Amino acid sequence: MVGIATLATCHPGGSRRAADDPTSGAIREQQAKPSVKLDHRRIFLTVRPGASAGRREAVIHDWHKSLLHEAIPPLIQQWEPKLGVSVSGYFLQRMKTKWGSCNHKAGHIRLNTELVKKPKDLLEYVVVHEMLHLIAPTHSDRFLELMSKHYPAWREARAELNELPLGATEWTERSGTN
Ligand SMILES: [Zn+2]
Repeated sequence: MVGIATLATCHPGGSRRAADDPTSGAIREQQAKPSVKLDHRRIFLTVRPGASAGRREAVIHDWHKSLLHEAIPPLIQQWEPKLGVSVSGYFLQRMKTKWGSCNHKAGHIRLNTELVKKPKDLLEYVVVHEMLHLIAPTHSDRFLELMSKHYPAWREARAELNELPLGATEWTERSGTN
C-alpha cells in the first residue's frame, strides 16, 4: 500500500559491506540437489550441470528467502510489544520499486527480498517502518512522530537504504571475488 522508497539509484561498489555481499561467490556444478553453502567468507552455489541462469537465480532466491525467514520473525516479535502492534502475517516478495508495504486492514506487512543484501539494521528499519504503518497508514505527522520516537535514526537509515542499489541481482561467475 505505502512504500518506503522510490527506485534507488545505482552506485556500483557503494555497498558498505561489500565483503559480505551475498551475491559474491562461486558456482559448482554437480549432480546433486541444488544448494547454497557458506564458509566463513564465501558463498558456494551448487547447481546441476547445465542449469540455466533462471534456475540458478531461483536457487539463490530461495536461499535469500530462507535467510529472511530466519531474520524477520525475531524482529517482529521484538518490536510488537515496543510499538504496541500485532502483525498478523508477513510476506516476502521481490519488488522493483519499494522496500516494503503494509496492508493496514489485514495487519500484514510485505518486505522486499532484496533486503537480504542490505545491512541488518536497515532490514530492521524497514520492518519497524512497516509495523508503524499498522498504526498510522500514511506518512502523516503522526507517523513521523512515531518513527522518530521509536527509531530516532530513521532519516540516516532511509538515506543509506536509498543509496544502495535496489535489485542488483547479478551473480558473477568468477570465483575468488568478494
Ligand atoms: Zn511508508
